[in-house]
Amino acid sequence: MILADSHIHTRFSADSSATLESMADAAIEQGLKTLTFTDHCDLDYPNIPDPDLFLMKKPAYFEAMQNLQKRYKGKLEILIGVEIGLDPSHAEAITNFVDGEPFDFVIGSSHVVHGRDPFMPGYFDVFSEREGYAFYFNSIAENALAIKCYNVYGHLDYVVRYGPNQDRDYRPYDYLDIFDPGLKTIIADGRGIELNTSGWNRGLKQAHPHLDLLRRYRELGGELITVGSDAHSPQSVGYGFAQAEELLKTAGFKYYAVYKAQKPQFFPL
Ligand SMILES: [Zn+2]
Ligand SMILES: [Zn+2]
Repeated sequence: MILADSHIHTRFSADSSATLESMADAAIEQGLKTLTFTDHCDLDYPNIPDPDLFLMKKPAYFEAMQNLQKRYKGKLEILIGVEIGLDPSHAEAITNFVDGEPFDFVIGSSHVVHGRDPFMPGYFDVFSEREGYAFYFNSIAENALAIKCYNVYGHLDYVVRYGPNQDRDYRPYDYLDIFDPGLKTIIADGRGIELNTSGWNRGLKQAHPHLDLLRRYRELGGELITVGSDAHSPQSVGYGFAQAEELLKTAGFKYYAVYKAQKPQFFPL
């Protein structure tokens, strides 16, 4: 059984209003042993009225998390993480944001790609679906080359959530020439990827990434994988974890990882 949710958001993220306690209590109800909070930090998020909206307020965050760890001691292991948006033009600022801080876990994600976030309306106005997917997938190799301060790369094919036909016509092997350089860099650098179950929760047939991409990662020698729901509310904590376990076994994984002090610990599937 997967007993750790390594990707969740709270009111410390602009797109969630969940309290820390409601997420911790939901994790206990789901029978989880470990919960890693990974609120957002996106430096220089474009075209929003409040430029600080997606910045993490670190002192308040660490204080709240450390208090929570004390309150849940013996009931739930609480780990402190961040999901930081990667972008080569801010490589230094991103690295400085994370370096020397007491994060247990750093997810690096492609959100804003050369000023465009597929989550925002209009992304597909200038692209066909295939072009829009390729534009996003390209950012993975670019970011992985430029930035090394992350532990796992988040939701590799997240753009598929927002495509006009979502995952209907999406086949990762159509984009393998784009995915492979990124996966190879991630693996060579000793970094991992995550299985993010939010795709299922949003009505897709796939989690992120797609099974074929999980298999490709294994084929290229990738072993490190964490599991996260990407929950923004308590109902989604631990979402689809039984299915996630089966998927990982199907893809050839024997262990999943949980990062503590940014070191992976391995648990059998
Ligand atoms: Zn994300
Ligand atoms: Zn997230």
